[in-house]
Amino acid sequence: MTQTALLSKKLDVYAIRKLFPILNREVKGRPLIYLDNAATSQKPQSVIDALVNYYTGYNANIHRGIHTLAEEATAAFEATRDLVKEFIHASSREEIVFTRGTTEGINLVASTWGRKNVKAGDEIIISTMEHHSNIVPWQILCEEKGAILKVIPISDEGELLLDEYEKLISPKTRLVSIMHVSNALGTVNPVKKMIEVARKAGALVLVDGAQSVVHLDIDVQEMDCDFFVFSAHKLYGPTGTGVLYGKRKLLESMPVFQAGGEMIKEVTFEKTWYNDLPYKYEAGTPNIADTIAFKTALDFINNTGKEKIRKHEDELLSYASIQLEKVPGLKIIGKAKEKIGVISFVVEHIHPQDIGILLDNRGIAVRTGHHCAQPLMKRFGISGTTRASLAVYNTKEEIDELIYGLQKAIKMLS
Ligand code: PMP
Repeated sequence: MTQTALLSKKLDVYAIRKLFPILNREVKGRPLIYLDNAATSQKPQSVIDALVNYYTGYNANIHRGIHTLAEEATAAFEATRDLVKEFIHASSREEIVFTRGTTEGINLVASTWGRKNVKAGDEIIISTMEHHSNIVPWQILCEEKGAILKVIPISDEGELLLDEYEKLISPKTRLVSIMHVSNALGTVNPVKKMIEVARKAGALVLVDGAQSVVHLDIDVQEMDCDFFVFSAHKLYGPTGTGVLYGKRKLLESMPVFQAGGEMIKEVTFEKTWYNDLPYKYEAGTPNIADTIAFKTALDFINNTGKEKIRKHEDELLSYASIQLEKVPGLKIIGKAKEKIGVISFVVEHIHPQDIGILLDNRGIAVRTGHHCAQPLMKRFGISGTTRASLAVYNTKEEIDELIYGLQKAIKMLS
C-alpha cells in the first residue's frame, strides 16, 4: 500500500484488496466475492510471508533453547504477546495467554476457574444469542456442579433485554458469560453496562470477543471484564491460535488447565511447582508459527487503522441493509440499533441452503444454517439464515453482486 493510501482519511479498499492474494481467484468461473468473514477472514500476503519466513528461516522450539534459532523464534513469539497486550490494552503481558482460539479460552476458564469456584446452587448467566462455544462449556460445568444456567432473553430486534438481565442477577450469580458482538445477528451488546451490573452482585464477567475485536477498539481495563477471549483467524491472522486475557490476580489464583512441559517450574515425583503467568496455562509446544504470524495480522490492522476499517464496514453494512430490504419476501433477522459486520436474513418459502448454493455458483461465499447458535434460531422460530459478513476488503460492487445474485436465486427457487 502506498504511503498516501495509508495517510488518507478514507480507506482505499482497492489498495487493501491487493494485499490479499486469495481475492484474485475465481470460483465457478467468476471473481470470488467473499462474504463469510465472521466464520474466518482472509489473510494478507504479509501473514502468509510470516509463516513461510518462520519455517524457512528460524523454525525452532521456543523458550528453553539457547541456540540462535530458538532465541529468534522465542523473541518473535513473545513479540506477538506484547502487541496483543497493547491491542486490547491489558495492563501486563502476563495477562495474555495463548490458546487455540475462542473455544479453548472459554473451556479453559470453565475447567479451571469454574471447577474451583462454582458450587451447587450457584448460577451462571449467558444469553439467548450465544455461540455454542459459550453455552456448552457452562452447561457441562453446571451439570457437574449442580449449578444453574440462566439465560438472558432477547427482543424481536435481536437486542438483549437488560431489565430481564438485571432481574436474573442475584448474590447466587458467580459468572456472566456474554458475547460482545453476535456472530449471527451483528448485535453489539452493552458489555460495559452489563459488567457494572454484575459487579454489584460480586459476579465475574467473561466477554466472548470473537466477533468484536476485529471491528471495535477493545480496552479490557476500561471495560473491566475479568476474562476476554478471541481467535486470531477472524482478525486476518492464522487459524489455530488465539487469546485468553484474564485479570492477573484471577489467573494467578486459578488451578492449571493442561499439564506437561512449559507450565512447570520444577517437577519431582512427590510434587510439581507450576510456572509463572502466562506460561502456567501454556502446557506443551504451542502453535509457534501461527502465533508469530498473528503479529503481522495485528500490524496490518494497526497500519490500516481500526477507525477507518470500522467506517468502511459501517457504510457497507447500511448500504447492504437498505438494498436487502428492497428484495421482495426477504426479512432481515437482527435489527439492533448497535450492529456491526453481519447481516442475516431469511427469504419466504426458500431454504437458506438453496440460496447459498446458487450464490456459490456466482462465486459468492455466504454462510447458511444455524451459525452455531441453535437456541437463537429457535427463539426466532427458524432453522437457519443466510448470513453475509463483512471485512475490510469488501466493496459496494460486491454488495450489488450479492443483491443481483440473490434476486436471480429467488426467481429460480420461487
Ligand atoms: N464465539 C463467537 C461469537 C464466534 O463467532 C465464534 C466463531 N464462529 C466462536 C465463539 C468460536 O470461535 P473458534 O471456533 O475460533 O474457537
